[in-house]
Amino acid sequence: MSASPPRPRLLVLSLGGTITMTAGAGGGISPTLGAAELVAAVPGLAEVADIEARSPLKVGSASLTLENIVAVAGEIRAAFAQGFDGALVIQGTDTIEETAFALDLLVPGERPVVVVGAMRGPQQPGADGPANLLAAALVATSEAARGLGTLVVMNDQIHAARFVRKAHTALTSAFVSEMTGPLGLVAEGRVRILTRVARPCLPALATPDGALPPVALLKIAMGDDGRLLRAVPGLGYTGLVIEGAGAGHVPGAMAEIVGEVATRIPVVLASRTLAGPVFERTYGYPGSEVDLLARGALSAGLLGGVKARLLLTLALAAGWERDAIARGLDAFG
Ligand code: ASP
Repeated sequence: MSASPPRPRLLVLSLGGTITMTAGAGGGISPTLGAAELVAAVPGLAEVADIEARSPLKVGSASLTLENIVAVAGEIRAAFAQGFDGALVIQGTDTIEETAFALDLLVPGERPVVVVGAMRGPQQPGADGPANLLAAALVATSEAARGLGTLVVMNDQIHAARFVRKAHTALTSAFVSEMTGPLGLVAEGRVRILTRVARPCLPALATPDGALPPVALLKIAMGDDGRLLRAVPGLGYTGLVIEGAGAGHVPGAMAEIVGEVATRIPVVLASRTLAGPVFERTYGYPGSEVDLLARGALSAGLLGGVKARLLLTLALAAGWERDAIARGLDAFG
């Protein structure tokens, strides 16, 4: 009789989120459970891998910082150097689209990193945490998921970090990748990858310890007169991402201010539509993409504002110059 193959080694890091939240005396749910308790509560999970469960944080995910995620990325890199086969990060769904993208930028190599959460707390009827956790662990230990960078697994769907977005406040199907669809799915315990994405080739982004450079994100609305935009450099920000309307547009009255700010700090132009590229050569009126790029803004390409902000922050921390930032943004399409 042949011996069964060794189980993969999986690092599970829990940061908090609804998946960990139970009711307290003060009303409402808040993070209480840690990684070991979550893992123990999922039937079949212990058979998937040899799991090391750690709980570095217990917070709502809007309170996570990029500094927290840099530390998580360091912990995952160290675990991979020690022979772990995959990593699973458990956290709140509100900022998964950001943390997953940051981890994608900060953890190189072939081994899967999967971020997972739940839309319903563990005490709610139809809690989705246990099923999400099992599916995510299967992906994080699967050969098929190697080389895809950081993935988000929710509702049995597998999303690439760079495309995924939380698009609903309540539904268990809240996560979408509008431009591509999910990369794959988990069904009957089997991981099926239907589409592969190539990881963009970027210069190293490993960051020093300590506070990261502050980068602002401004969403532009109809009739905005630009007073907030004008104030950004004076508030100490070292970079700015603008989520413009449509293909990357601001009111004409703001165009000159965009140009002034761009002489002081890097300004990246994204689209508030969150799908499709920022245009480069179509509209020529004041405040159009042609006008703003000519005034010194850099295109976010296919990246939405929150993801472009993370790349700009890490690029500034790594000391990239303007051309390198432009190439880095362009590497995502
Ligand atoms: N507010 C929660 C969080 O992001 C929502 C969730 O986990 O689904 O921490």
